Amino acid sequence: MAYEALYTRGRPKNLAQLIGQEHISNALTRAVNSKRLSHAYLLVGTRGTGKTSTARLLAKAMNCEKVLAGQSLSANEIPCNECTSCKTIDYSPDNIEFDAASNRSVDDVTRLLSGAYLAPIQSHVKTFIIDEIHMLSNEAINSILKLIEEPPPNVAFFLATTEINKVPMTIRSRCQVLNFRLIPQETISPYLIAMANKLSVELENDAAKKIARLAEGSMRDALTYLDQCYAMADKKITLADVNETLGLVSDSDLDEIISAVQSHSRAEVGRAINHAFRSGLSSISIAEALITRLRDIEFENLRGNISDLDNFVDAVRKAILEMQGSGVPDIILEMTLMKLAAPKIISVAVAPPVEETPTVSANLNEDKNIFHDIVKELPNSTAMMLAGVVFEKISDDVVKIIFHGASNEKSFVKRGKAEFEKLFAQKFGRPIEIETAVDSDSPKPKVEARNEQSKNFLDTAQKVFESDSVKKI
Ligand SMILES: [Zn+2]
Repeated sequence: MAYEALYTRGRPKNLAQLIGQEHISNALTRAVNSKRLSHAYLLVGTRGTGKTSTARLLAKAMNCEKVLAGQSLSANEIPCNECTSCKTIDYSPDNIEFDAASNRSVDDVTRLLSGAYLAPIQSHVKTFIIDEIHMLSNEAINSILKLIEEPPPNVAFFLATTEINKVPMTIRSRCQVLNFRLIPQETISPYLIAMANKLSVELENDAAKKIARLAEGSMRDALTYLDQCYAMADKKITLADVNETLGLVSDSDLDEIISAVQSHSRAEVGRAINHAFRSGLSSISIAEALITRLRDIEFENLRGNISDLDNFVDAVRKAILEMQGSGVPDIILEMTLMKLAAPKIISVAVAPPVEETPTVSANLNEDKNIFHDIVKELPNSTAMMLAGVVFEKISDDVVKIIFHGASNEKSFVKRGKAEFEKLFAQKFGRPIEIETAVDSDSPKPKVEARNEQSKNFLDTAQKVFESDSVKKI
């Protein structure tokens, strides 16, 4: 027998089984018992929150013999699933369901909707369930609108959408709107454990929580993940199984990175991130997992102060944007974490030459304070490229930056030069041209670390750029 997906198997059979949407099942139970069901519902919510399931339950309920008999029913009796109608409605020609995403042409929709004007063949009410209503063309929407405004007898519409803002007001205002919430993790997790039990598999609590978190409020996603783990499992599904099956970085790997950053240990950060890289995941996936983990920590208030965690999340989020489309995402992530581990170190490294490094300051002129100010305003990623450079004023309108290594010069021209010129122009009140040059023969300015931190930073920077050109400036 073909394996039936958990999501199909887990579909609610009655309103009481509608997980995480109690406000909807309560409202609909009241509507059934007071005979105030509408002929048009608009079901709104993220994917996997139960919109289509609810529409099917309602369609069934509108034809259920017990409901039609006017008995007072509880949520677990709506629909009854026992009467002839309940048992046959799934195969009824009066029960029409389609996905607007795949039936978008006006002709398709018109053909399907034209049936609304004919009396139901075997049911009490003819039902139309239309998924992703916002994908329909304007013409198709208009024909639905007409049907809702002047409904033929014994017809009901269930219009579902994930994007309410794309549904015309005219439709919204004529439907009873049901808003589906994201299903909380605390609701998904025990449900998954119960589902696994039914399959005679033990789903560990941590494993269930992890899946629930990944599902981000969607029961369908949660059950799909559980399905994947179940396919690989023996008698038990552990957190490690979930991580492995779904290709995730483990929480302990992520915690190692977070602890290393929080304890300002760059060596530990390096070790932890390399460990995470060995999982074979892309650095973007690792960064995303890191954000999720940080949010969890923030939520559970396990440790650290909130503003530190917020900064951490912001920095990683910015790194993800930089990583997208970058050829060196691993380096960006590593550098971001290094910076977080030692927030003050960057400013030491990019500080312009000061008196105690005479070899460099000899190359500078009276404008050195301006260089200083400008470097301070640059984003750290650009400032890093300027580690070890020599500024030279060519004329009043031209400044030359001499790089020791060609790779830094190349990165700077590509990613930092325009910004640097803009800041220069702002400071000087006129356009300043930046020339760049590489002089690998130039004597390396002596690195006299003012403190242990800056020395360590230079070691790191050197490693990051895989070049020996990083000098203190
Ligand atoms: Zn029934």
